[in-house]
Amino acid sequence: MSIVGATTTELLARFERGDLSSVEATTAYLDAIALNDQRVKAFLHVDYDHAVAQAKAVDAKRARGEPLGKLAGLPVAVKDVVCTAGQPTTCASRMLKNFVPPYDAHVVTRLRLADAVLIGKTNMDEFAMGSSTENSAFQVTRNPWDLERTPGGSSGGSAAAVAAGMSPLALGTDTGGSIRLPAGYCGVVGMKPTYGRVSRFGLVAYGSSLDQIGPFANDVAGAALLLEVLSGYDRRDSTSVDTPVPEYSRTLEEPLGGLRIGIAKEHFVEGLDREVEQSVRDALEVYRSLGAEIQEISLPHSKYAVAVYYVVAPSEASSNLARYDGVHYGHRAAGFENMIDMYSASRGEGFGPEVKRRIMLGTYALSAGYYDAYYLKALKVRRLIRNDFDKAFESVDVIASPVAPTPAFKIGELIDDPLAMYLSDIYTISANLAGLPGLCLPAGASCDNLPIGLQLLAPPFDEDRLLRAARMFERETQWHKRRAMEVGD
Ligand code: GLN
Repeated sequence: MSIVGATTTELLARFERGDLSSVEATTAYLDAIALNDQRVKAFLHVDYDHAVAQAKAVDAKRARGEPLGKLAGLPVAVKDVVCTAGQPTTCASRMLKNFVPPYDAHVVTRLRLADAVLIGKTNMDEFAMGSSTENSAFQVTRNPWDLERTPGGSSGGSAAAVAAGMSPLALGTDTGGSIRLPAGYCGVVGMKPTYGRVSRFGLVAYGSSLDQIGPFANDVAGAALLLEVLSGYDRRDSTSVDTPVPEYSRTLEEPLGGLRIGIAKEHFVEGLDREVEQSVRDALEVYRSLGAEIQEISLPHSKYAVAVYYVVAPSEASSNLARYDGVHYGHRAAGFENMIDMYSASRGEGFGPEVKRRIMLGTYALSAGYYDAYYLKALKVRRLIRNDFDKAFESVDVIASPVAPTPAFKIGELIDDPLAMYLSDIYTISANLAGLPGLCLPAGASCDNLPIGLQLLAPPFDEDRLLRAARMFERETQWHKRRAMEVGD
């Protein structure tokens, strides 16, 4: 098995046996980046020397027989919305083009403590707003399975990096599906943890009541291991929950007897691609053959999820993005007459069109006179969406659904139609509104050979069961073994 096609489990075993060093592995991934990223454009920043130096340090630690972290020697790519000390963190925005954070995000500290190798920063939709990475101010990432198509977004760079064998692991963020959707489009595993499971300290905020950081990997075990490293209480994020973190990677192989899987009748309606629907139904058959019981459930308010999300997320975004005023940090326009002029020129030049659209939508929804009609109303419906899930989880353990209505769409296909773009989030955003953990894993292929993802959702803090349920499917199927690109090392 080639290095860059290997799973994290295989890589760690080879490190342990001593037949592969972290420097060799890291170099193989860096070579894959040099070879493929001119076409895929997953990375915004790769510091080759620094990556090799980190790998060398881990190899030396191993040679000295010192205790090693759980990710010792494994490269991890980080979405460029997560702060890395001394390395650019641009959020794919002109506004932060020259921003180099003076500190690490909590998750980055956790990666360093786990002896991971930070291989680079990945492309995304500007400030994580989008579903295709076309909203990046710098470059459009391409889907490694078909370069004419989008990898999904907003964490498209991270998903594409893993799918193209340019990193075995990556971090993404998921405010309304931005880990799960690109995982589905790129045929990798991606997971959004429960709201509160992973600290957002050092994550540039988009929608603060929705944002979560989570893992990408090429199999469930990789995602479980990375989640285990990222999770846990941090007093620097007031929404971080102080509850024990199970060792997900240890319990993964334990079978789930009598698993009850819910499928929502609202999820199988017009607009759902025939091949996507077939893949989900085939996946359910696999579960049935393993003894799972499939039950129909109802999520009656899910039809409002897109509308609710596109009020709540832009409202929070408009408030979070107020800090980019050209004074504190970020882009400042060159020519201006007075302070107000400086604010508007800096923001006008620094933000791209989708970010401006969100700021306008959010400011409108929050303004006096409209607040009750839009924002408050959206919060009330959000509660009803959560109630639907609470009720459903009284009779099922997990909920299975498509991750998106279609496989990856073409670059340029939806960019001029924001509403159509927003509809690609239809299956993912409810989990963010309700704070639930969700996972997407490869579960099929279209006749064009594009990956099709299966989404599983679980009750809050039930990541353990979610991962085990995903692993049950993975053990029985071969979808996760498909690789997007022939990459030599
Ligand atoms: N596509 C959604 C949006 O544009 C979700 C983005 C995300 O999860 N960061 O807001």
